Amino acid sequence: MMQFKDFLEKIGVSKEQNIIVHSSLRSIKIAFNSISPNQVIDELKQAVTVSGSLIMPVFTYNFKKSNDGYERFDAIHSPSKTGALTEVFRNCDDVNRTSSPTHSFAIWGKIKNKIKESNSPESPLGENSVLHWLAKNNNAFVLLLGTNFSSLSLIHYYEILFKVPWHNYSPWDYMNVLPIGVNQLNEQNLIELPGCSKSFTSFESYLIEKYFIQNNFYKGMKYYFIDINKLTLEAEIFFKNNYKELLCKEGTCQACDSRRRKYLND
Ligand SMILES: [Zn+2]
Repeated sequence: MMQFKDFLEKIGVSKEQNIIVHSSLRSIKIAFNSISPNQVIDELKQAVTVSGSLIMPVFTYNFKKSNDGYERFDAIHSPSKTGALTEVFRNCDDVNRTSSPTHSFAIWGKIKNKIKESNSPESPLGENSVLHWLAKNNNAFVLLLGTNFSSLSLIHYYEILFKVPWHNYSPWDYMNVLPIGVNQLNEQNLIELPGCSKSFTSFESYLIEKYFIQNNFYKGMKYYFIDINKLTLEAEIFFKNNYKELLCKEGTCQACDSRRRKYLND
């Protein structure tokens, strides 16, 4: 059986890369003999070194709501809602957390010199966000371990970059969600709220059909390691021509249906 460290090397993870990781800890543990989350994190850090960067989403979705009963973001105490590995990562002593009440990131390495802990752009995954910094970097990668493209946050950034028709229309009215992030002290008006990501797998299927990526599995764990600059070139084509496929099928998703009703009445 391969060690996690050797697996990272084999798929191309190496020093000085800036990598955003999306993960299922459960799948990683099955593939690598019940490896601990701390070991996964340590080996990722050793692979990229402090001259590179590790990034994980630690989103909490602390939106203001039009009805009562919403929680306020607390950078220290609010747990990540984007997976068990990310929660362990953000609690490392040498990891910083950005301040978006809805879409904060845990960051380690070089990026800590570039992105402040106070980072909280009004477009949480758009201009001036961690994803924006990453997409402009020429040594940047996405690493998916046990997840598919429905957890690939970068696709929300592409929705904004390539201006899909609904990029600044919130689909969350039916959940009483207002375009306002809330933390302990104040509120922040937001633009370009990320919508539903379930059907982002259509972009994944497209890339597999084009042989841009392979449908990789290691001991049942789906994985991808993708150069972001190359992905952005592919995304530009897909998001201009096939963007409708990014919404869920009609009648299966209230969020996507609201965007479809407003923008795709043909
Ligand atoms: Zn949907």
